[in-house]
Amino acid sequence: MAPIAVTPPNQGNDETLSALTEQGIEQALLKNAPSQLKSASLTNTLTSIPHQQQESKLPQPIDAPLPELDASKLQCTYTTSPRPVPAVGSAEMASQRVCSDHMIQAQWTLESGWAAPTLQPYGPLSLLPTASCLHYATECFEGMKLYRGYDGKLRLFRPNLNCNRMLMSTNRIALPGFPPEELLKLVVKLCATDGAKWLPKDRPGHFIYIRPTMIASDPALGVERPKEALLFIILCCFAPMAPSATGIKLLASQDDMCRAWPGGFGYAKVGANYGPSLVAQGEARRQGYHQILWLFGDECTVTEAGASNFFVVWRTKGGRLQLVTAGLEEKIVLDGVTRRSILELARTKLATMEGDLEALEVVERKFTIDELVEAADEGRLVEAFAAGTAWFITSVSQIHFRGKDIKVPMARGDAGAYAATLKGWLKGIMWGSDGMEGHEWGRIVEEE
Ligand SMILES: *Cc1c(COP(=O)(O)O)cnc(C)c1O
Repeated sequence: MAPIAVTPPNQGNDETLSALTEQGIEQALLKNAPSQLKSASLTNTLTSIPHQQQESKLPQPIDAPLPELDASKLQCTYTTSPRPVPAVGSAEMASQRVCSDHMIQAQWTLESGWAAPTLQPYGPLSLLPTASCLHYATECFEGMKLYRGYDGKLRLFRPNLNCNRMLMSTNRIALPGFPPEELLKLVVKLCATDGAKWLPKDRPGHFIYIRPTMIASDPALGVERPKEALLFIILCCFAPMAPSATGIKLLASQDDMCRAWPGGFGYAKVGANYGPSLVAQGEARRQGYHQILWLFGDECTVTEAGASNFFVVWRTKGGRLQLVTAGLEEKIVLDGVTRRSILELARTKLATMEGDLEALEVVERKFTIDELVEAADEGRLVEAFAAGTAWFITSVSQIHFRGKDIKVPMARGDAGAYAATLKGWLKGIMWGSDGMEGHEWGRIVEEE
């Protein structure tokens, strides 16, 4: 890549105004993570960074740059009142209210850049009621997991992709940039600190959920670009995933509601995408469905299922077997790490499958619910599943669309055959089993 002039990301100069455009976001990524942008396309924001890559020292302009987010400056204050770890199977464990002993915070201001991050006891934030994030949804987040492996090790799954995506999300809502590798170091540090206690070695197969978050904390009601922000990282207990014996049932969204639209922000993990979806989700639950299948536009294109990406396996009218998921080009679909990993595994391992599974073609494209209904009616629908970090890979058994129930086959009884196979491979990588212990997508965390 050609050398580029670099200015600090945290100066609110005019060029940041272009952050609404794809180009603007790419510029920000170039400034913060030049090593990761191989080609200029937003859909490459998740492009992985090789593990051993040296940090590139950015050329600094002569005006003293403001301090960057810097994990090496971390100041640690350890808790003096450790919290109990919920018992396996307890209601507390499933409540998603219990966090580990510590959290990491880092403050940013327009004038002073990033302050030294702190590791400190978990506890409430201090915000004034005028804080920007409480009024204008200047908030974005990530969702990752720390896995306790069957080989006793702690692992993260492709965490660099989440850190890159967080940078992209912050750009979309005018929050400050940061070097994604510094965020990753902070995530690793928190996991290293609390992992041993909160994911004890006698709980292989368990995980804790990692929530890096950034909010605008300016105590000023004016509707303007944030001048102050807070980054924090917490580890939250989650019930271990119970295998679903029946698959999930999806309710297709009604004409009067959509999750995201071209020119919007559906591709970014910003809080503003989620609150407004809860009305539809509540309605789905009330009617006995697990999630909404989000359709878009007059053609009813299929986008995502809840906050997970959606995949279908079908046979084309011409008889070709395909794994299909919505493309990213309209930016109404989130570029999921699980989605990306499934596509990569499918392209390398399922395209030339031998044995009990038939090889299939992998297709990212716009498709409509009518195509899905037609495939089901003609017996060409093979399976469907939702995929994301939180709920992993879950087979779909039924989709309700405009008064009609589409029955989705699950060849293995409790799952589709392709979903089960992909899930098995990813499980092996995440939890270090089935010969996948050394896979490059699993990043081992050394416990403290
Ligand atoms: C987080 C999320 C996903 C899944 O992304 P992963 O990186 O696989 O966890 C999919 N869709 C939406 C809307 C999401 O918020």
